[in-house]
Amino acid sequence: MQLTFLGTGAGAPSLQRNVTAIALTRSRRGETWLFDCGEATQHQYMRCRLKPGKLEKIFITHLHGDHIFGLPGLLTSRSMAGILEPLTIYGPKGIKTFVETALSLSGSFTTFPLEIIEIEAGPVYDDGTLKVTAWPMNHVVECYGYRIEEHDKPGFLDAPRLKAEGVPRGPWYQQLKRGECVTLEDGRVINGADYLGPATKGKAIAIFGDTAPGDAAFALAANVDLMVHETTLEAAMAEKANGRGHSTTLQAARVALQAGAKRLVATHFSSRYGGQDMARLLAECQSVFPDTELARDFAVFEV
Ligand SMILES: [Zn+2]
Ligand SMILES: [Zn+2]
Repeated sequence: MQLTFLGTGAGAPSLQRNVTAIALTRSRRGETWLFDCGEATQHQYMRCRLKPGKLEKIFITHLHGDHIFGLPGLLTSRSMAGILEPLTIYGPKGIKTFVETALSLSGSFTTFPLEIIEIEAGPVYDDGTLKVTAWPMNHVVECYGYRIEEHDKPGFLDAPRLKAEGVPRGPWYQQLKRGECVTLEDGRVINGADYLGPATKGKAIAIFGDTAPGDAAFALAANVDLMVHETTLEAAMAEKANGRGHSTTLQAARVALQAGAKRLVATHFSSRYGGQDMARLLAECQSVFPDTELARDFAVFEV
């Protein structure tokens, strides 16, 4: 999986940072999911290698404008480009009214099937390869963080050994690959589990919505390979950050440490910070959690 940051600023865009959007590319074929869609996300799309036609799903953390104002433009441009592949949007209650009202009042429509699903905390999506769960955040409006987990991949079937033991190829190979028992025509019972290599553990990513420190954070990010957390303000401004439902550098780093995350990517920086401040913000995070990196627009992280 690959994460591309399309916007890393909080509240309002700056010349260096657009507002929040993060693209998750699932495979080499380029299918992409978007997490939040701040204003001008479609412009950011044009500046990188992502293709709107490969965009399959959009997960919205909450309805604040810096996370959703890019939706109407992205949807209608995707439609005008003649893209017919369906798109599903997941988000808190109200996302359906927002999108449908924006489209209908502006006389807009989509040529592709658009499904909008209003979610609650809990399982959101599972296609057998990837599973998405929503966790409640501690923000000033209803807000969710998303945990994205690959299912474990079963180990490879040892076909040469089966051949050496005289087990003929046949449709039962599929059952053996699943670790099941099969009875051959000669009466032998073969247990697939005995011929499977070790399973590959699936990767996990946690993408937090806007949030002050809260209890759900540790389950959301438990042992993830990569955790994306907002760091709207610096450590010395905790009171101000938390009062507005946001976190500081140190607070995000503490979550990463306590949850057992392997890496932290900090994002959603207040526009008060310019390039000269970033080393200081990074040092604050790394004083607690050394494996921290700061997101910038168009940064790509492999998981
Ligand atoms: Zn925000
Ligand atoms: Zn917000």
